Amino acid sequence: MTYQSVNPAKGELLKKFEDLTDKELETRLAAAEACFNIWRHKTYADRAAIVTKAATLLHERADEFARIMTLEMGKRISEARGEVEFSSNILAYYATNAERFLAPVKLKPSLGEGHMESSPIGVIFCVEPWNFPYYQLARIAGPHLMAGNVVVVKHAGIVPQCAIAFEKLWIDAGAPAGLYTNLLISHEQSDRVVDDPRVKGVALTGSVAAGRSIAARAGTNLKPSSMELGGSDAFIVLEDADLEHTVKWAVWGRMYNTGQTCCAAKRFIVIDKLADKFLEEFQAALTALQAGDPMDEKTTLGPLSSESALVDLLKQVDGAISHGAKVLMGGKRIDRPGSYMQPTILTDIKPNNPAFREEFFGPVALFFVVKDEDQAIALANDSDFGLGGSVFTKDIARGQRVASRVETGMMFINNISWSDAELPFGGIKDSGYGRELGDMGIQQFVNKKLVRYVKAEAPL
Ligand code: NAP
Repeated sequence: MTYQSVNPAKGELLKKFEDLTDKELETRLAAAEACFNIWRHKTYADRAAIVTKAATLLHERADEFARIMTLEMGKRISEARGEVEFSSNILAYYATNAERFLAPVKLKPSLGEGHMESSPIGVIFCVEPWNFPYYQLARIAGPHLMAGNVVVVKHAGIVPQCAIAFEKLWIDAGAPAGLYTNLLISHEQSDRVVDDPRVKGVALTGSVAAGRSIAARAGTNLKPSSMELGGSDAFIVLEDADLEHTVKWAVWGRMYNTGQTCCAAKRFIVIDKLADKFLEEFQAALTALQAGDPMDEKTTLGPLSSESALVDLLKQVDGAISHGAKVLMGGKRIDRPGSYMQPTILTDIKPNNPAFREEFFGPVALFFVVKDEDQAIALANDSDFGLGGSVFTKDIARGQRVASRVETGMMFINNISWSDAELPFGGIKDSGYGRELGDMGIQQFVNKKLVRYVKAEAPL
C-alpha cells in the first residue's frame, strides 16, 4: 500500500489508503480529458471564478488545512498556516494575472504582420513532494488551470490526507469533474500515466532520482516536462556582513520546515575573518531550539516528515563522519517519541567526502571556511546542484556581483525569501529545468503559436 498517513511526532499510524485500481485510474483520466475539451473553451473570467473561489476557501479554512499537514508530515503549525495562506495567494495571483500573461504578443516581421498566441495543450500530469503539501499543488494548479489545461496529480505517499483535502477544495469551489484530479497510484501506474496519449505534459517536483526517471519517460514520449529537483544551496557570508542579521537568516534558512526545503541553506561558506564568530552564534542559536509537538505554537523544532527520512539522514551523517567530517554539534536522533533529529553542524568536509556533493534534507548544516570572495564563489559553484543560494554583505553592489557569478537558478542578497507568487522558481544542473510561479510558470505548458499574415505572391 503506497499511501499511509503517519504522525511523525508520535509515530502513530493515522490512516491507510488503497491505490486506485487500473479501472479507476482509467475513469479519472477519461474524465480529465472530457473536462479539458470543455474547460479549454472557457473564458479567463469563467476560469478565474473557480480558481478565486478555491483561493478564498483555502484562506477561510486555513486552520483546518494546516492541521492536516501538521498531523501528517510534522510541519510546525505556524509554518503550516503560513503555507496554506501562501497557497491561497498563489491561486488568487493566477486568477488575476493569467489573461495578461497569456495575451497575444504582436511581432514585427520584415514583411506583413504577425503575433504569438497562447493556447492550452491538455491534461498535465503533476508528481509532487510531501515537504510543501499544499504550496506545491497551488504552484501547478493556479497557472495550469488558468491557462485552460486540466491537471491530474500524484502526491507523495506520506501525505494522502493533504492530497485528498486539496482535491476536495476544488469540488467545493464548484470545479467541474476532471478539472483537478488526485491520483493515489503506484510508480508503475505513474509511468503508464506519463505514456498515456491523453496526457500532454509532465511536471515533477522531487528528488533527482525521481526526476531522472520521469523526465526520461516524458522524453521517450516527446512530451514537454518541467523538473524541480533537489539542491545544496550555498549561504555565503562575506567579511563585511551584519553578523546578527546574518545568523538569524542562517538559522531560518537551515531550520525552516525542519530543514526539509529544496532551496534551504545547506552549505555555509564563511570568509575566515568572520568564521569563528559566525559559528559561535549560529551554534548557540541552534542549541536554543526546543523540540516539541508541532501542534504546539511554542515548539521551535519539529520532527522530520517520517521515520525513514530520519533514519536515512542519520545514515548520511554517519557516512560523512566515516569519510573524515567532524561533528561540531548534534548528529543523533533526539531521545523522545517521534522522528526528531538534533540540529547538527558538520565541518571538515573535504571534496573526496561523498557528503561534499550530497543534499542533506533535514537539520544538518555543512560548514566551510574560505579565505576570500573568489574562493567562496568557487566552492559554491563546485556542486552538482544549481537551485538557489544567498550572499550576505553590507555592500549591496558587491552582493549583486557575487550573485551574478554563482551558477544557480535563484540568488538572494541579505535574505532568503525564497518564494513569491510573482517570482519564477527553479534551478539548473541536477536541480532540474523549467520554472514555476510568476509569468514563466504559466508559459510552461501552453502552445505558443505563431500567426503571420503577409500580402505577397509566392516566389517563383
Ligand atoms: P521523491 O522521493 O522524489 O518524491 C517526490 C514525488 O515523486 C513523490 O510523489 C513520489 O511518490 C514521486 N516519485 C518518486 N519516484 C518516482 C518514480 N520512480 N515514479 C513516479 N513517481 C515517483 O522526493 P521526496 O523525498 O519526497 O522530496 C524531497 C526532494 O524533493 C528533495 O530532493 C527536494 O530538494 C526536492 N524538492 C524540490 C523542490 C523544487 O522546487 N526544486 C521543491 C520541493 C522539494 P512516492 O512518495 O509515492 O514515492
